Amino acid sequence: MNFFKSGSQKPIRQKMTSFIPYGTQDIDSSDISAVVKVLKSSNLTQGEQCDLFEKEICDYTGANFSCAVNSATSALHIACLALGIDNSSLVWTSPITFVASANAAKMCGAEIDFVDINENLNICPEKLAEKLIAAKRLGKLPKAIIVVHMCGQAAEMKRISELTRQFDIKIIEDASHAIGAEYDGQKVGSCKYSDLTVFSFHPVKIITTGEGGVVTTNSNLLHEKLCLLRSHGVTREKRLLNNKKQPDWYYEQILLGYNYRMTDIQAALGISQMRKLDGYVKRRHEIATLYDESESKLPGTPIPQAQYSSYHLYVLRINSEKSINKRDHIFKDLRSRGIGVNLHYYPVHLQPYYRKLGFKPGDFPAAELYAQEGLSLPIFPTLTNEEHEKVIQALERHVIKV
Ligand SMILES: *Cc1c(COP(=O)(O)O)cnc(C)c1O
Repeated sequence: MNFFKSGSQKPIRQKMTSFIPYGTQDIDSSDISAVVKVLKSSNLTQGEQCDLFEKEICDYTGANFSCAVNSATSALHIACLALGIDNSSLVWTSPITFVASANAAKMCGAEIDFVDINENLNICPEKLAEKLIAAKRLGKLPKAIIVVHMCGQAAEMKRISELTRQFDIKIIEDASHAIGAEYDGQKVGSCKYSDLTVFSFHPVKIITTGEGGVVTTNSNLLHEKLCLLRSHGVTREKRLLNNKKQPDWYYEQILLGYNYRMTDIQAALGISQMRKLDGYVKRRHEIATLYDESESKLPGTPIPQAQYSSYHLYVLRINSEKSINKRDHIFKDLRSRGIGVNLHYYPVHLQPYYRKLGFKPGDFPAAELYAQEGLSLPIFPTLTNEEHEKVIQALERHVIKV
């Protein structure tokens, strides 16, 4: 099947059906030629393109260092390991996130707990403050907190870092949704209020490398650990070797690492996508504005996005003041009309795996209420105004007429 004519500059959206997804990648001919160039070169795996991609990520975010890997899940895993998270550690995160945010801590053998959300779907600083006081009393403070920037809107990092600093709690930002977003006058990823930040390049995210992720940090030491963990714990760097008087072929494994490398094929795609990042975020803002302007036709209330968001998601909360129907009914109706609405996310603590660890309904009421009401609407750079109108028309059928 031929989805595109070679040489075409037009975005290639694989429109096999009229189905409108909630999110999808945008691959154009410049992306394709960047990838083909690497395929025709002598090096396919981590190499020069990865170095260049990492430099682009640093230049864009303002962070001093970055380490590109094969997914954000891998990035979260090595971020935890670099901070020394192990089976004696406790890690906190948000219950409203993709499971990988919590799994990363479990993969290190750590215990996990959650902090409930606020109206922005991010960790609520007040609930965090209360939970810290209780944890201090019990002698059960976390070693690290993984802060998720839901929808592409940064959490209240300043408050969160003030609250956690006094207990020396490390901070990882799970910014899988949030490349291109800003907080406190800086790009998310600058690590101004954290130790490490993770981005995802899965195809539904803001930019893609097919699969991929990156960790940014301002710490030389953490960066060094990340790079070792990414590639088997093996190094040839003289400075790190135990036995320094060895011939040039010599290498050492100095810790237990993984094969989490990003390929140069992926990195070349990433570099090409970075050129379009600001344009993507701008188009996402335009679509968000179109939804905002149609608020009277929406059977719910949009999640407020006060920070400069990357608008990975545009989420509506369906509620009885605005809607004649419940969320599940609207979900089913829109899906039957070819509109790929979704829920991001079913609370992590209610997943069977986490219930087996002792979590139960009622533990995080704000997250659980949101899971009854949330509906992610289509938002991605190649969504047309006509498609947007189709979504609005389908939603309008559920609005209470006054
Ligand atoms: C997508 C996502 C991840 C995992 O990203 P991968 O690159 O698919 O591993 C982790 N956390 C959040 C919040 C995500 O949205």
